[in-house]
Amino acid sequence: MSTANSATPAAITPYKALIAGRWIAGSGTLDVVNPATQAVFATVPDCTPDDARRAHDAAVEAFATWRRQTCFARSALLKAWHKAILADQERIARALSSEMGKPIAEARGEIAYAAAYVESFAEEATRIYGETFPVPGANKRAFASREPVGPVYAVTPWNFPAAMITRKVAPALAAGCTIIVKPAKQSPLTALILAELWEKVGGPAGTFQVITASNASRVSEVMFQSPAIRKLTFTGSTEIGRQLYQQAAATIKKVSLELGGHAPFLIFADADIDLAVKEVMACKFRNAGQTCVCTNRIYVQESIADAFASKLAAAVTALKVGNPADDATQIGPLVDAAALRKVSRHVDNAVQLGATVLTGGKALDGLYYAPTVLANVKPGMELMEEETFGPVAPLLTFKSEAEAIQAANDTPYGLAAYLYTNDLSRAIRVSEALEYGIVGVNDGATATAQAPFGGIKDSGIGREGGPWGLAEFLEVKYVSIAIKADCQPH
Ligand code: NAP
Repeated sequence: MSTANSATPAAITPYKALIAGRWIAGSGTLDVVNPATQAVFATVPDCTPDDARRAHDAAVEAFATWRRQTCFARSALLKAWHKAILADQERIARALSSEMGKPIAEARGEIAYAAAYVESFAEEATRIYGETFPVPGANKRAFASREPVGPVYAVTPWNFPAAMITRKVAPALAAGCTIIVKPAKQSPLTALILAELWEKVGGPAGTFQVITASNASRVSEVMFQSPAIRKLTFTGSTEIGRQLYQQAAATIKKVSLELGGHAPFLIFADADIDLAVKEVMACKFRNAGQTCVCTNRIYVQESIADAFASKLAAAVTALKVGNPADDATQIGPLVDAAALRKVSRHVDNAVQLGATVLTGGKALDGLYYAPTVLANVKPGMELMEEETFGPVAPLLTFKSEAEAIQAANDTPYGLAAYLYTNDLSRAIRVSEALEYGIVGVNDGATATAQAPFGGIKDSGIGREGGPWGLAEFLEVKYVSIAIKADCQPH
């Protein structure tokens, strides 16, 4: 194998892309910047539409044989890939942390989480069951079987460069599909290393390919125009998801969309305040708040609002902001200058409209923003309408359960919502009333490879994880068989 991907990021390391079974350098390159230093530390190929076409053709060709492998053979390769990812956890975590600024301890956690999807789908691969069912004709028998949907195109975001890829690639491969991934331009390295490890454990050419590109729409056009690409799976913003949904319509591709969120966190007066603070911290501040399921609106019942606010502010003030490469760092930089501008704009707008800064509230050096708690937040402020995607916890108050539910649901988004209460009946009532795909009850960190992850409304279509995630890559085929009723003598 000819690839530079095993070098540690020190000087500028040129990475290659795996297309049609070959590692290519590309006719041009794309810089990869470390958000902590804002220095270029690696380059990846700037793939062209011709490269995308080669990947497309290889995926289509490989599908014909990959789909015919037994599910046990596919499962065995996925298990080997799982092991290889864990064996290389530190190298991948370092590359991931360097390319998008995630603190190294969290980056290691992401690799373990990403690998868990591979292991889970290696197991699911052997459970692609069908059904027989009765039909009215006495001389007919019927069954439904499940088949791979076909070659898949995946477009992924920068905020989870490993997990957002494995939770698409592993179910696709488990189902018998081939898959081409276009990672975000901020974080292409993790994707390339994952492809390298798939190749290393014997993943056949064309089954999993990565195209890195500065112009996402030019390379994507090749996939959208092709009727042979049977599925689009996208994770990213609602705005881009909506565009790609329309483009996929031209060839009626099957579609999964994991889009933006605006998660409410409801804290009722019966909650244990210290535990609620702990869950809000886990929910809001991982990845410096750059997570689609991070809470963006914290509603606290009036009688405990002041006590909760001061405890949360103390915990947030104690967060260790620093170099993501250090083990102790809890908050790293934001991914890029545009992200920093958005966070600053949201906080400044909230303060102008009457919010109070309890801690933080300002940009630090480079791409860092101080972990922030805002009180007196009100509907109509920009951070109440858009995802902030930064380390900012906005606090609002409510009087009644009905008011809290109404406020929580008052958004076009429907990805994740959280509540904290010690009242079981309330926990059930409120979780049923919340219009979201995921509800955390006294749990601010719900994600696990076995669960159905996904949203409703503007947050997307479909689910990733567990049998639900596998079903997204399968089509149901109905076979009806007419039989002769009587035994015929020979
Ligand atoms: P983004 O701007 O929507 O980009 C996502 C991906 O789409 C990137 O690979 C990007 O490529 C690509 N893209 C952009 N324009 C395109 C086009 N015209 N044609 C084809 N591809 C195109 O999102 P992001 O900033 O990377 O990620 C943050 C967003 O993802 C947030 O909204 C977050 O909530 C959401 N997210 C959702 C989930 C979930 O499971 N629901 C999980 C994680 C993140 P380039 O990088 O080259 O522009």
